[in-house]
Amino acid sequence: MANIFVLVEQEGDGPTTLGLELLAKARTLGEVTAVYVGTGAGVDVLGEHGAARVLQTDPGDRLPAGPVAEALAERVSAESPDLILFGQAYTDRDIAGRLAARLGVGVLSNASDVRLVEGGVETDHEILGGSQIATARASRGPFIVLVRPKSFVAESTGGNAPTVEELVLPAAGSAEATVSESHVEEREGPQLGDASIIVSGGRGLGSAEAYELIERLAKQLGAATGATRAIVDSGWVPYAKQVGQTGKTVKPDVYIAAGVSGAMQHMVGMKDSKTIIAINKDPDAPIFSVADLGVVGDVHDVLPKLIEALEAR
Ligand SMILES: Cc1cc2nc3c(=O)[nH]c(=O)nc-3n(C[C@H](O)[C@H](O)[C@H](O)COP(=O)(O)OP(=O)(O)OC[C@H]3O[C@@H](n4cnc5c(N)ncnc54)[C@H](O)[C@@H]3O)c2cc1C
Repeated sequence: MANIFVLVEQEGDGPTTLGLELLAKARTLGEVTAVYVGTGAGVDVLGEHGAARVLQTDPGDRLPAGPVAEALAERVSAESPDLILFGQAYTDRDIAGRLAARLGVGVLSNASDVRLVEGGVETDHEILGGSQIATARASRGPFIVLVRPKSFVAESTGGNAPTVEELVLPAAGSAEATVSESHVEEREGPQLGDASIIVSGGRGLGSAEAYELIERLAKQLGAATGATRAIVDSGWVPYAKQVGQTGKTVKPDVYIAAGVSGAMQHMVGMKDSKTIIAINKDPDAPIFSVADLGVVGDVHDVLPKLIEALEAR
């Protein structure tokens, strides 16, 4: 049976959704070892999602990439896993890059799927705004693959509690970077990555104040709020709301895009939503090419009417 390592970060009191998505894939490929970076809270969740073993490591206030990559490189050399999966996220990327340099191998980045094949691994990568899939193959391991968020669905299998070992980090060097301060983003309501309904606004709203319409509609629907880069760059909403190539990839049941043109860089982050509803005053706006339902109209007319109708129910 193949031996699969998966890096999972802890966020708050449990594993990140991205880590659980990777476990969902890993357990279809072989026996899973989760490398769990954090204090260890919520470790049983990793078992429920298919990890037979957990290598838990707590970098504390040390910047994780250097020490975790060094410790992991030793484990990989000793155990020769068939595949090491990371998420396409900041800490994961840092660790993966350093690990690859230590092992003298490459990284297959931004994958949307991964397969073990005769003599190596094969990965799929969305290109040209997701309109085409390129397949890459590597034949010299250890194989390190970075996977995009939302490529797989996180699902509990109700597995047993995993065995837990500590992944001992090397002693800190005098030049090592430490985290001196960190900020927890204030969060309210459903989060973009997990929401089943998302209401996103774009420059067509006309002003930062008009984003309130997005928030009111989202509240009625129990939805998370999203945004295009144009309005993030204009300072209307924080970067955490950005959907797209340089923001979050989302796959909700319903994605409502209001005053969003549908630039390729936005669509690559939301085009796989189950149902897309677009509101735009330009009937030729590209967003309509992916929309299941399109409303040609002014957001300042359509959104208040929609909110009013929902409030009346
Ligand atoms: C390297 C790179 C990465 C990028 N990454 C991202 C990313 O991650 N996410 C992202 O979103 N963008 C990203 N972009 C930017 C992207 O190319 C677009 O510029 C951006 O998505 C446009 O945002 P928008 O739709 O809000 O604005 P616009 O393109 O200006 O569109 C506004 C739309 O609103 C409509 N409109 C205007 N007034 C009204 C009204 N009253 N009622 C109804 N409709 C109205 C217009 O018809 C138009 O279609 C990236 C660009 C680059 C180069």
